[in-house]
Amino acid sequence: MGQMNPEEWTQQALIDSADAVWGCDTIEKANSFIASLPTPMCLPNYVAGKLGLPVLDATATFIDSYEPKTGKLLYRLPRAQEKDVEDAIRHARAAFQTWSKTTRSERSVYLRRISELLQENRELFAVWESIDQGKTLERARIEVDRAISNFSYFSTYIIHEQTAARMVDGVALTYEHRSPAGVFALISPWNMPLYLLTWKIAPCIAFGCTAVAKPSEITSMSAYLLGILFQKAKLPAGVVNIVLGDGPTTGAALVASPLVDGVSFTGGTQTGIAIRRATAHQIRKHLSLELGGKNPTLVFADSMTPATRERTIRIAATAAFENQGEICLCGSRIYVERAAYEEFLALFTEYVTKKYVLRETMGAVASAQHYSKIRGYLQLAADEKATFSLGSFPPSVEEGGTQGYWVSPTILTDVAPDSVLLKDEIFGPVVTVCPFDDEADAIRLANDSEYGLAAVLLTTDGARMRRVGEQIEAGLVWVNCWLVRDLGTPFGGMKNSGTGREGGEYSREVFTVARTLHLPAY
Ligand code: NAD
Repeated sequence: MGQMNPEEWTQQALIDSADAVWGCDTIEKANSFIASLPTPMCLPNYVAGKLGLPVLDATATFIDSYEPKTGKLLYRLPRAQEKDVEDAIRHARAAFQTWSKTTRSERSVYLRRISELLQENRELFAVWESIDQGKTLERARIEVDRAISNFSYFSTYIIHEQTAARMVDGVALTYEHRSPAGVFALISPWNMPLYLLTWKIAPCIAFGCTAVAKPSEITSMSAYLLGILFQKAKLPAGVVNIVLGDGPTTGAALVASPLVDGVSFTGGTQTGIAIRRATAHQIRKHLSLELGGKNPTLVFADSMTPATRERTIRIAATAAFENQGEICLCGSRIYVERAAYEEFLALFTEYVTKKYVLRETMGAVASAQHYSKIRGYLQLAADEKATFSLGSFPPSVEEGGTQGYWVSPTILTDVAPDSVLLKDEIFGPVVTVCPFDDEADAIRLANDSEYGLAAVLLTTDGARMRRVGEQIEAGLVWVNCWLVRDLGTPFGGMKNSGTGREGGEYSREVFTVARTLHLPAY
């Protein structure tokens, strides 16, 4: 953190760097652009349709953001202060007056255009997302594709949506009328930056609301690119505003503002609690909180036949290690039926060793701070005498060093039943594998968590799929698959994994207000 130097932040410099960044659609071009800069690039906010810096005065500070794969300083971003946030909210409110009155087909055209522009620039977004977050380029492409779908899905959803009407015989016709709920704070985390931010922006503007979005301070690059893309799409000024900054200053000011009508938040459970607390007195405020998880994967012996075990191992491994285990839906607690435990562990370890190769098919974790957190849990595993069936205790690293934040895929066994390793969300490439005795034991272990976001059930017994699936306390249960999803299905968690659901009509609940009109029958 440091004071800003206003001379580095001329409007022309911002335009020049936006043009230059937009031209970097390969890792090589991006790296040579970064290497050519005399000082780190400064990312601007995107407010009222313009890329610009907040008012620079004595209180202005910036945040340094490091490249996970190298540990080097990548860019700086302003820590937007309360007054900058208020300014963005005012623009969103002004834009709401007209945007909320546009027809659904007009809004649909904008969303379609944004989705097409993202498609045209797929590689550009994937390259910067991979550099900024640490994920592999392959994984980043998958997430850009999903961001494209977020806009295309809601561009058609709104022109086909329906509302309910009912007759009270001979007395009245009642119908449900939906109107946009207002200005939203859209706050996202660092693990899938573009994918998750667009999962909020697309429905928000599709349903006629306007937004002030805040990406994570650890990964703001794709939000910056999105601002440039909105300019290219000629999205009316103020419909989406993007402020950069941290949680305690920027995020807190955004959430608490009385001029914000709703908050769609994805992030940690403790932050979700802070947001609920900060808005408890603003009872009208819509809150959608998508929070943390500690998801179980249940492996039944019947899924380990010669015909099915390859699939079982592949799904359990993908659910555990995709995106370095930095997906809220990752299955980081694997429970295996005792009869198949040894065989599963041997095949699983072999598969993970071959499939998840650091720097090739597995990226770096997002930040030095997160690396240290994961390292702390691995220290605990060593202290508690858990077995490292794969992986080892990693060395310490520092921000600004040159090693990057690399954690090898780690499989822990012989973990004590009451260990926090089975309770806390580690959110990295670390998985525990424990045995269970029977179906009841499996359900008990799966539900023995404060969280209830997702679960994976691996079995070939059709009756068990429903019997167990319907007893697992999780918002999403995948049977013999993982992460497949139709965007209309309700997404969200039970217990401390959050409140509210998003997706299709569920997103409409978040971003609209329902009125019931009663018309007399005469
Ligand atoms: P985080 O809660 O620390 O931060 C998330 C966002 O909230 C960031 O933009 C941050 O700046 C902001 N923020 C922090 N404090 C704030 C405050 N007081 N007021 C307003 N905003 C504030 O989470 P993280 O470390 O960025 O992300 C990891 C967490 O996100 C994990 O727990 C993971 O499970 C969760 N997550 C959940 C889902 C889901 O859909 N349920 C998806 C992805 C990630």
